[in-house]
Amino acid sequence: MIPTAFEYFRPANLSEALALLEQYKDEAKLLAGGHSLIPLMKLRLAQPQYVIDLGGVKELSYIRESGEHLLIGAMTRHVDVETSEMLRQRCPLLAETAHRIGDVQVRNMGTIGGSLAHADPAADYPAAILALGAELRAVSTKGERWIRAEDFFVDMLTTALQPGEILVEVKVPALGPRTGTAYVKVAQKASGFALCGVAVVLAVDPNGVCQDVAVGITGIAPKAYRARAVEEALRGRALDASVIANASAKATEGIDPLEDLHASAEYRAHLARVWCRRAIEQARESV
Ligand SMILES: Cc1cc2nc3c(=O)[nH]c(=O)nc-3n(C[C@H](O)[C@H](O)[C@H](O)COP(=O)(O)OP(=O)(O)OC[C@H]3O[C@@H](n4cnc5c(N)ncnc54)[C@H](O)[C@@H]3O)c2cc1C
Repeated sequence: MIPTAFEYFRPANLSEALALLEQYKDEAKLLAGGHSLIPLMKLRLAQPQYVIDLGGVKELSYIRESGEHLLIGAMTRHVDVETSEMLRQRCPLLAETAHRIGDVQVRNMGTIGGSLAHADPAADYPAAILALGAELRAVSTKGERWIRAEDFFVDMLTTALQPGEILVEVKVPALGPRTGTAYVKVAQKASGFALCGVAVVLAVDPNGVCQDVAVGITGIAPKAYRARAVEEALRGRALDASVIANASAKATEGIDPLEDLHASAEYRAHLARVWCRRAIEQARESV
């Protein structure tokens, strides 16, 4: 289908983009890689009167070190996250997660900011962003604020971003000592989206006892979530097979798994438990 008519803007910098967004408010949509927005517009599920293309806002595309953190600009494409040597060394979970998104065409166009702002329940980044305890910087003409990953995802396709705000940057911690990470996924055959994706960040002491752990799960519920019950069952324990299996059994505790044409709720819950165990094992082996 062809989208409804719209007026197109291509601002050259962030201030211009913010001014346009402020001017056209709810009638406007930001365009990043277009790999979620354009399909929605073609289906006429989104009918913006004004499209503000961030493609010319070069200042939002970067990966930088900042002490013990890494900063990723919102317009950084999946392929650049996937292939960044700095991320591979200092935050391998994010690079690995980007590598698992869709296919080469999708990764060449899609951006980390677009993916997070879209908040698809089956997107990959949200699991990693939650497990990393990332923070997201939002800017409007009125100022800026940092949003914790856990506060960012509000519901299906809904984030904490307010009208007039642009997501500009993602801040993730560099890999700590004796820390392992993993992102594992069961993909929908056609699109590559996650039926179930589990991200784990795990720190162990020299005896293999879990000092700290964070588990982010996507694909299962209307929004990605931290599996707190799993984390609590691992913290302070030696990570043997039975501890990991018992903890993983809690992967959907307090969650109502989605049911759709791709998978029943029961199957999704099963996937969450099994792939949670595999992700924890893989993270432990990578320490
Ligand atoms: C065939 C196919 C397969 C895919 N497979 C996967 C997959 O396996 N895993 C996965 O995670 N994703 C998958 N995707 C989605 C892909 O990763 C998209 O790139 C991503 O969801 C959206 O990013 P984008 O840069 O294309 O954003 P766009 O489509 O341009 O924008 C998406 C939404 O975010 C808003 N937005 C964009 N940037 C900002 C910003 N900086 N601040 C505030 N709002 C903003 C837009 O207004 C729009 O509402 C797939 C897409 C396709 C078409």
